[in-house]
Amino acid sequence: MEKKTTLITGASSGIGKDLAYVYAEKNYDLVLVARRKENLEKIKNEIEKNTNAQVEIISMDLASVNSAEQLYDEIKKKNISIDVLINNAGFGVYGDFVDKNIAGDEGMILLNIMTLTKLTKLFAKEMKEKGGGNIVNIASTGAFQAVPGIAIYAATKAYVLNFSEAIAFELKNHNVFVTTICPGPTKTEFADVAKMSQNPFKNAPTARELAEFTYKSMVKRKVTAIQGFKNNFLVFTVRLSPRKLITAIAEKVMK
Ligand code: NAP
Repeated sequence: MEKKTTLITGASSGIGKDLAYVYAEKNYDLVLVARRKENLEKIKNEIEKNTNAQVEIISMDLASVNSAEQLYDEIKKKNISIDVLINNAGFGVYGDFVDKNIAGDEGMILLNIMTLTKLTKLFAKEMKEKGGGNIVNIASTGAFQAVPGIAIYAATKAYVLNFSEAIAFELKNHNVFVTTICPGPTKTEFADVAKMSQNPFKNAPTARELAEFTYKSMVKRKVTAIQGFKNNFLVFTVRLSPRKLITAIAEKVMK
């Protein structure tokens, strides 16, 4: 059987790194993208040593207007056909909206929204033409409500969730399946990058557990997948409660 290839953005650490190991173990070749080349090289070497996967690495900043097109062109030049796209790269910044600098906000919106949207369009088109594929977009449980303290981040993830759920319905009749993963707190570098307290992450699942959950959800062709009873219960409660109350609770939790 012909081997399939998975493209993973943000594969140099955390969830993306573990996704790379899980997909390699499931017999996929990989294209791994992030800025930190040395991390990607280490991951490539380890995976190629321990599995049958071939790993291409592309070191690129995905937080600029044309990153998605550049990445797409680079993959075309290498003559690689992508069967699974995982839009995982993303970051948040903790703090009051008004105190944060605009350049940081812009980078977050470009990476979490613009690059994800463009990559989805470029590869979904190709998958539709060749008759199938999977797209996995990583959102967050923060997508289900407004979150003071990470206002833009949570809003970018609400976009990812709504956008992905809508196109899942547009694409399923073309054999292209879109799965949105909504992780709760997960042990990665995320909290350090966001400059958040480690408290919510103390008993959190590992990136490996989340990566395995992601693979299983994709195979089951889930449209939306939330990991664990606690996260599912919280999201369910949010849906039944007044938005103002939920925002006030989210503010308390973040402090
Ligand atoms: P992480 O360990 O900080 O990993 C983030 C990844 O994104 C890294 O590989 C990083 O690589 C890459 N990245 C960041 N900025 C980039 C840029 N400008 N260009 C290219 N790549 C970039 O965090 P994580 O927790 O694994 O996050 C993965 C995804 O899960 C994110 O979308 C995050 O929002 C989501 N998520 C995480 C949690 C959690 O609790 N951890 C909860 C909900 C959702 P480089 O720095 O090498 O570029």
